[in-house]
Amino acid sequence: KDVINQIAAAEIIHRPANAIKELLENSLDAGSTSIKITVKEGGLKLLQIADNGHGINKSDLPLLCTRYATSKLSKFSDLERLQTYGFRGEALASVSYCSHVEVVTKTRDDGCGWKAHYQDGVLVPSKPGLTPDPRPTAANDGTVISAEDLFYNNALRKRAFKSPSEEYNRILDVITKYAVHNPHCAWVCKKAGTALPDISTPAASTSRANISLLYGATLANELLELPKTTLDPIERLGARCEGLVSNANSNWARKGGWLLFINHRLVDSSRIKKAVDSLYTAFLPKGASPWVYLSLEIDPSKVDVNVSPTKSEVHFLNEDEMIEAIVAVVQTALAGANV
Ligand code: ADP
Ligand code: MG
Repeated sequence: KDVINQIAAAEIIHRPANAIKELLENSLDAGSTSIKITVKEGGLKLLQIADNGHGINKSDLPLLCTRYATSKLSKFSDLERLQTYGFRGEALASVSYCSHVEVVTKTRDDGCGWKAHYQDGVLVPSKPGLTPDPRPTAANDGTVISAEDLFYNNALRKRAFKSPSEEYNRILDVITKYAVHNPHCAWVCKKAGTALPDISTPAASTSRANISLLYGATLANELLELPKTTLDPIERLGARCEGLVSNANSNWARKGGWLLFINHRLVDSSRIKKAVDSLYTAFLPKGASPWVYLSLEIDPSKVDVNVSPTKSEVHFLNEDEMIEAIVAVVQTALAGANV
């Protein structure tokens, strides 16, 4: 059984950046307005995420890292939303199968916080000889999850990581994109032991302001907002689309960017990317690419549920019509800006 769980874990957690994505989505789901991430050795030594969300009830701690343990079924009362990406209470379990997990959490109603350690899905003592029960501890409202020694039990996987700085850059990339998409939340990411964070955004910001902070003011100022009045083709498909995209006179010397969120999860769709990129070919110099941030909200029953959790590439029903609609929206935005 452990082997099966370990294989499942390796499928979901390929590298530190996958773990961070799962952990920060949990923090967002918990209603956090502040998320602080600390990283050691590209996340291979330590990934720590501290949030100010609703916390975890003490009674939920014993089974927290069990596979399929999720508190989100009843909350959304929408099985389809959970099925959307194939994740149903598997993320935290997976992290516990490939690292040492410590959870410190406090709900608003709790007088004190609780600390618990996990390994391979189960509560374990913090030191040999102690009971594995959650222990009372001083804590702020919210949750701090630390994953230490990622892949300590998987020498092969661990050896595959040649460069901690590359892993750290992937982590920064994921957080940067979530910060653009979730500007209501304050984000911090830093290397352990350093004073200056590499990412720091204020709470109650906007996507454009966060783009300015994280990607630069020149880019932020030249992006076009997709106009709401042109969203009819998408609305007809029961979807919503928002975003910020390069305009025809953008500074193409800068690196392009691609941020696609579907139902608030960062995903890939090579078909959408290709279709949107092709709108720019008329004004793009060779080798350049546009900067595109798109947020699509689609009826979850229309997003392909058969996508395996290993792949971030998504497909959905009516994909051709959806792509056509998205292209129409971006095209209208570009045309409007050129007049
Ligand atoms: P899922 O997100 O699909 O429910 P996870 O394995 O990611 O599954 O998380 C399991 C459960 O742990 C969540 O349903 C939630 O109840 C709880 N949880 C995890 N992280 C947090 C957090 N940062 N704050 C509050 N609850 C959390
Ligand atoms: Mg989750």
